[in-house]
Amino acid sequence: MGRLASLFAPDRVAVIGATDRSGSVGHAITSNLRDEFSGSVVPVNPNAGTVLGLDCYDDVQSVPGTVDVAIVVVPADIAVDAVTDCGEAGIDTVVVITAGFSEAGSEGAARERELRAVAEEYDLDLVGPNSLGVMSTAVGMNATFGPESAQPGPISFMSQSGAFITAVLDWANDRDIGFRDVVSLGNKAVLDESDFVAEWGDDPETDVILGYLEGIADGPSFIEAAREVTDDTPIVLVKSGRTEAGASAAASHTGTMAGSERAYEAGFDQAGVVRVDTVQELFDYAGILSGQPLPENDSVAVVTNAGGPGVMTTDAIGDTALSMASFTDGTLDALGEALPDGANIYNPIDVIGDADTERFAEAIDIALGDPNVGAAVVLACPTATLSFEELAAATVELQDEHGLPVAASLMGGDSTRAARAMLSEAGIPTYFDPARAVDSLDVLREYREIQACEYAAPTTFDVDRERAREILRAAADRNTNRLGVEAMDLLDAYGIPTPDGEVVDSPDAAREAAERVAGDAGEVVMKIVSPDILHKSDIGGVEVGVTPEAVRDTYEDLVARARNYQSDARVLGVQVQEQLPLDDATETIVGTNRDPQFGPLVLFGLGGIFVEVLEDTTVRVAPVSESEAASMVDDIESAPLLRGARGREPVAEDAIVETIQRLSQLVTDFPAILELDINPLVATPDGVRAVDVRLTIDKEEL
Ligand code: ADP
Ligand code: MG
Repeated sequence: MGRLASLFAPDRVAVIGATDRSGSVGHAITSNLRDEFSGSVVPVNPNAGTVLGLDCYDDVQSVPGTVDVAIVVVPADIAVDAVTDCGEAGIDTVVVITAGFSEAGSEGAARERELRAVAEEYDLDLVGPNSLGVMSTAVGMNATFGPESAQPGPISFMSQSGAFITAVLDWANDRDIGFRDVVSLGNKAVLDESDFVAEWGDDPETDVILGYLEGIADGPSFIEAAREVTDDTPIVLVKSGRTEAGASAAASHTGTMAGSERAYEAGFDQAGVVRVDTVQELFDYAGILSGQPLPENDSVAVVTNAGGPGVMTTDAIGDTALSMASFTDGTLDALGEALPDGANIYNPIDVIGDADTERFAEAIDIALGDPNVGAAVVLACPTATLSFEELAAATVELQDEHGLPVAASLMGGDSTRAARAMLSEAGIPTYFDPARAVDSLDVLREYREIQACEYAAPTTFDVDRERAREILRAAADRNTNRLGVEAMDLLDAYGIPTPDGEVVDSPDAAREAAERVAGDAGEVVMKIVSPDILHKSDIGGVEVGVTPEAVRDTYEDLVARARNYQSDARVLGVQVQEQLPLDDATETIVGTNRDPQFGPLVLFGLGGIFVEVLEDTTVRVAPVSESEAASMVDDIESAPLLRGARGREPVAEDAIVETIQRLSQLVTDFPAILELDINPLVATPDGVRAVDVRLTIDKEEL
């Protein structure tokens, strides 16, 4: 076990604030603890001689001998002092049940800062505050004030909501779902989800880590911690509490589209976490992940005694990444021999309604023996000839013999109860609804893929960081936090290709610049440069195909349109830019913004002026590795457009992938960059070019 061994396997637990006053938290915890705990309980309370008949001490420092864990239940105004006493007494693991911290206004937030400082000073492993407590079935410890104790089992469970724990335990106990450790995270002042993921990843008795989270304290460290454990231990999380606050304040396309929901989606994905939406899925998947082996291939055999449900199951398989197995000739022959006329030997195998257990079991046996089959669903409806219990016994035996994952759907009520218990006992999940059996098998597939995932380090490109810093500083000196095409050199410093261009501040200078940057066609693109104009095209601030003769007038026009749009708009000048041929080009977007939990994100998608209408984008937490960047191109729906749909020549995908990585490096190097859009990044068969850039910086970070 890891660092938190004493939290989950203590010999001696002190309850600071223990009391005989029934109905109080101090009383509930003390009596819960006393009930089944294999260690000893020490009540601490200066106003009581004994609590529940146990000798009580005035303060934790006067408790003789070693205390492994202190549970703090005293009122908020003395809780920090109580924790300090623990530190002084040499106790290094503390669970703060007391509420009235950061969840309770600014006074509470200040108190939480004090608490954190004390924890740091004494190097405490601290759970909470505002926690329901912790449980460990290995030592029979229920150090919570909830009404239910967990039953022993292979699941370790953390929850940011204490109430959710009491609800889940009540429900789980009804279904014989057992736990190893349970933690109510509370406000996560010190220990957070990353710590418990790491702890349980090291615990051989924890088969699956489950969590209910409302937020992630520190996205990047969570990703790091999770990646360490998902090779051995699956992590299944339900995350609630969607906030779009970040998105609504955003000034960039990326900011609008990369909301915090997408950050979580990306972060959980990159961490190798199985993310679910419902409590039902949380426990369905925990059950199968702890009870069944992983499939070696994604082909599923369905064995049923009822045609209709067999078709439903086939449909459900079609909705997942699994497929219906096609059987070998040997299997078909064997099934033909074993089953009567009228049975279906093709997948889904229908042993038909008059099947007894023997026929049903033989079909399962043959199916599981087929080399094409990776997993099976056993699907049974009640009939006069079938005994659910016998079928369950045969299924358990055959699953064990063949070593392939099996999920069962027994479509009945009370008559299936005993059979369900037998299957569950053997680790085979059973559901009424066959779609749930299929979804559970699909999660085994998902976890197998997570396990196979190799996490490569991001590439570090040779860039001119100093020049980038100077460009950002120069903007800060102009007292602006918005930069546009005048900052094109920033991209250049990080090796992102840009067309020739220059920002000029007079019609004559524009004419000269046009001569320098114009390509063979002789035409240029001209753009207004103003920190007050976010979307240049929207106000007529971009002119393409400007001939040399028209350059001067266009300069005047662009400035006039800017003034017309906003009379006091700051105009830095006009950019004269090389015009790129767009015939075989696709406009893409590469961007970044910052998520409060996960830090910098990178976004890639189909770009141009309709980017927010099309919304075909994908997001990752930065920094991204080469394979993560490549997977972003795979992700978008328009990927075929980049890869040569309708006779077009494919664009240089590797140049896109490199640009994503270089941008990822830029935003990782400069926390001052809050948001940045390269839109469009023009992609052609020859490479990419960034023709427009916009960013928001935080001057304080420079
Ligand atoms: P904004 O996004 O502020 O409206 P852009 O610089 O992105 O301004 O220009 C808008 C559109 O004009 C681009 O999506 C692209 O289609 C076209 N465009 C801009 N610059 C060039 C260029 N150098 N060569 C060819 N087309 C361009
Ligand atoms: Mg643009």
